[in-house]
Amino acid sequence: MTAPPPYPCRPPAGLTFPIYLDYGATTPVDPRVAKVMCDFLTDKFGNAASSSHSFGWEARRAVDKARAQVAGLVGAQAAEIVWTSGATESNNLALKGTAYALRAQGRGKHLITVATEHKAVLDTMDTLERAGFDVTYLTPGADGLITPEQFRAALRQDTILASVMYVNNEIGVIQPIAELGEICAERGIVFHVDAVQAAGKIAIDLKQLKVDLMSFSAHKAYGPKGIGALYVRHNPALKLEAQIDGGGHENGMRSGTLATHQIVGMGEAFALAGELLAAESQRIRTLRDRLWSGIAALPGVQLNGCAVNRVPHNLNVSFPPTRYGTLGGQLLGIAVSAGSACNSAAAAPSFVLLAIGRSPDVARNAVRFSLGRDTTEAEIDYVVATVTQVLALETVQ
Ligand SMILES: *Cc1c(COP(=O)(O)O)cnc(C)c1O
Repeated sequence: MTAPPPYPCRPPAGLTFPIYLDYGATTPVDPRVAKVMCDFLTDKFGNAASSSHSFGWEARRAVDKARAQVAGLVGAQAAEIVWTSGATESNNLALKGTAYALRAQGRGKHLITVATEHKAVLDTMDTLERAGFDVTYLTPGADGLITPEQFRAALRQDTILASVMYVNNEIGVIQPIAELGEICAERGIVFHVDAVQAAGKIAIDLKQLKVDLMSFSAHKAYGPKGIGALYVRHNPALKLEAQIDGGGHENGMRSGTLATHQIVGMGEAFALAGELLAAESQRIRTLRDRLWSGIAALPGVQLNGCAVNRVPHNLNVSFPPTRYGTLGGQLLGIAVSAGSACNSAAAAPSFVLLAIGRSPDVARNAVRFSLGRDTTEAEIDYVVATVTQVLALETVQ
């Protein structure tokens, strides 16, 4: 097979390559965040659990401030935020911690989730199934959404816990969390929401939502990797079983010396996300719509996921196959994701797209464009021009 010709023939001036359109996989740490973190690595290095001197007090104050910053973005109380090593751990703690605690109380063994959840939920559910729980996996419609009626129909007498993500990481669709929360509250079911792809992108108000547990990660919102949080609604009846035992940190829910520099980074990143949310979503929506209107009319192009109930930052599109393979593999100088980063090592088509009824071929030819804080109009115009050119020259007729 001959190599494809390089695109574009003439790279436009003023652009820096490669162009990053994979903010759904991770984001750069905002320089303002990095600066705060550095102080806590070198000068303010104390252990937040050291209660007998000022080094410890200083770290403790910083951790408390960060807790309030994270809580502030989502309408929670600071005391409801538990630090973890990332959202993978938050999801494990939420699901295993609740399921084991409720089973110990003899409350039932049925769990509900959705087939398009992140692997951090699905693999945890798999472990719980092997531990004797029954799990129902709801299949979303072709738009990627589940309905409250469908959710209600899956409930059983012994349902104890449901987990539904707020925003899907591959197709960006927004699930009806408010309605699902009402149903769970009515039936006394603990409700967990993986909100990693929602935090900082859409407004979240836990005072309004009937959600018991919510997972967050810093690195999808311009904070550092390796730090996350679990919101645990204040409720004496909801006591999670710890998954990491040790010194009894975080009210016994998650032991281990607090990673102060990571924590202040997450706090600063979430505070910043709150300040920028309205203006940034508007700006990014305009860019995303410009990208879509530039490519929507090209032959064989299909949008994956609901066009309306989706975050402004995401555009997931399937292209016709080209003679050199998928179009996603030929966007030289443009960093995008074919499916989700967690799955792109495998050549298998995205399980999310298969679950919403896309054929293996259509799923394999999908590209996720995820836009972020540094995305510019010039970058979007370059992407539109490149996609147009590749499709015009290389589509298999
Ligand atoms: C990235 C991601 C996770 C995992 O978060 P980490 O902090 O990287 O462990 C979980 N859920 C969703 C929806 C994600 O996008």
